[in-house]
Amino acid sequence: MNLLFASQNRHKMEELSALLSPHMLTLPEDIGIAYEFDETGDTLIANALGKALHLYSLTGRPSLADDTGLFVDALSGEPGVKTARYGESSAGRLLSSKERNELLLGAMKHVEGTARKASFVCAIALVLSPERFFVFQESLVGEIASQIDGSGGFGYDPVFYLPEERRNLAHLTGDEKNAISHRGKAAAALKEMLMYLERGEDS
Ligand code: IMP
Repeated sequence: MNLLFASQNRHKMEELSALLSPHMLTLPEDIGIAYEFDETGDTLIANALGKALHLYSLTGRPSLADDTGLFVDALSGEPGVKTARYGESSAGRLLSSKERNELLLGAMKHVEGTARKASFVCAIALVLSPERFFVFQESLVGEIASQIDGSGGFGYDPVFYLPEERRNLAHLTGDEKNAISHRGKAAAALKEMLMYLERGEDS
């Protein structure tokens, strides 16, 4: 199935495309649509669905969107839905990944053991029409690491510790991460749904 992906981020689109292969994703800009959306929802689902519904309203074509957050128990679920903008309000600018990771480790300085529990959560919305859409949400549970470690992945991967693996997410290969990650699992569920829709089993 050909789907529009509600984003301006080509790297993100290519990563998700690889997970959904052979289904194809296209960016709005590649069909001449200037796509922008303010992520002001209180939940990841509201943001993902809002983005996909907006893109559908602009194009009338099946549209996909995602939103991811890191929810830290000891910080009452922060940064959560504002994960990409963590630290922005006090710094007055968007922080780099390294700065956000350092800020997070500082906030967790006095938190010990299993109280460092945290979850990555990924919501993906598939809009076939305003009346017909599906939302998939999956998570990866782990802990905030005691220090930045590992060079793989991106974002918060170097500070996300997997107790069962005894290593940070940033030490996993791309395939290892996709097999267990919030995004990998949500994309796998979406892929199942796309196969089901293509087989026409819903008609
Ligand atoms: P987005 O919704 O994909 O834009 O992600 C929101 C924020 O979460 C960004 O700051 C990303 O860097 C971070 N993030 C999303 N997915 C991951 C991941 O798999 N590992 C680490 N950080 C992530």
